[in-house]
Amino acid sequence: MDIFYRRAKDHGLKITPQRTAIYQELLKAKDHPTADVIYRRIVKKIPNISFDTVNRALLTFSKIGITNVVEGYGQPKRYDPDIETHHHFRCLRCNSIIDFHEKEYDNITVPEEINKKFTVINKKVVLEGLCSKCRRL
Ligand SMILES: [Zn+2]
Ligand SMILES: [Zn+2]
Repeated sequence: MDIFYRRAKDHGLKITPQRTAIYQELLKAKDHPTADVIYRRIVKKIPNISFDTVNRALLTFSKIGITNVVEGYGQPKRYDPDIETHHHFRCLRCNSIIDFHEKEYDNITVPEEINKKFTVINKKVVLEGLCSKCRRL
């Protein structure tokens, strides 16, 4: 929670009970949830919270750098509370996203032609396939 209070203060973001609850809920999540999933979890605890509040809070969290957005390529944004370098395995059947760490991937080299044309800010490896549950089907 430390980083939440620190970054919020740095960015002049008011720490409301709702924002705090949303961030806490996200921190607990290991499944890279969408805003909708977070909303459904949090509305059980704060029945009068609106989807819009949850959605806007998550967008703000990613803007101030305490939440990562997993690119969904046309699917709803998925949020990741883990802002340390890590990589993802994505299941093509059930869409689950599983974290993994691999030192070699952290230091992957960017091809010269990409470096010439673009500025690379993030390097993440995404492996795709079937998760252990789906493989058994
Ligand atoms: Zn799966
Ligand atoms: Zn992740």
